Amino acid sequence: MMRIILIIAGCMLFPVLTSAQPEVPVEQWSEKTILLIGAHPDDDAYSMGTMAMLQAHGNEVYIAILTTGNVGTQDPGLSMVDLARIRKQEEQAALAALGIPGDHYINLGYDDGMLEYENKKEVVAKLVRLIRQLKPDVIFSFDPGKGEQRWHKADHRASSYLAADAARAAMWPLLFQGQITMEGLEAHTVEEYMLFDSAEEDKNTWVDISGFEDKKITAMSKYVSQWSSGWYDYRGPELPNEEAKEVRERVSRRIEYREGNPVEGFRYVKGLPDNIGR
Ligand SMILES: [Zn+2]
Repeated sequence: MMRIILIIAGCMLFPVLTSAQPEVPVEQWSEKTILLIGAHPDDDAYSMGTMAMLQAHGNEVYIAILTTGNVGTQDPGLSMVDLARIRKQEEQAALAALGIPGDHYINLGYDDGMLEYENKKEVVAKLVRLIRQLKPDVIFSFDPGKGEQRWHKADHRASSYLAADAARAAMWPLLFQGQITMEGLEAHTVEEYMLFDSAEEDKNTWVDISGFEDKKITAMSKYVSQWSSGWYDYRGPELPNEEAKEVRERVSRRIEYREGNPVEGFRYVKGLPDNIGR
């Protein structure tokens, strides 16, 4: 009897699980506006193959990063101003490698490591304005449904909630109403979310990035201050040949494969933004 109940329960659950997929596979998306929101100028690395592919397939791809990344170093010779400048250059080089136009990179200029202590209403207002200006069809973000309250890198946790909160607020015309009455913007509802850095068991969508691995590896290799000896001793954007090769190899090992194909995994959610944390 219990077995029958379990089978019936399983059948009821199965359509829910399988429906959590994009109706049109991501590999076939075109003419969409895509907005990725992250905390640091390398958080797009979770999705770079997908971003390069979407850009190549005729979508408008925008990358919005909340902090300048001005703390991420162990090199005692770098100041926060130095690092903000270096990481801006690295992110621009990475996006150029992906084919994303330079003016599609937005940085809100907050200090690295301090997002949770910023004025939340102010940050959300800026993101709401961006969402209302760009009118994205899909938002890519850190997954607010991951177990952040147990432990998660603080800025990533903050970024996930700020993005979700901004998406929710953007759809209500009486929230941040001045943007509508004074700036000529309109309320905008985003119904599709691709959440990255999700818990493995929550991922439901694997984007096949075949043909875009090389762009991803090249883009990731631009983060010399983060993923090379530059982390301890930054000597400029170009690495000696041998280390450059070693970094490329190390970065390429981070690409995940499923059934022989390179993929990026996401938790896809469709629906009103109030639901994306589930
Ligand atoms: Zn980060």
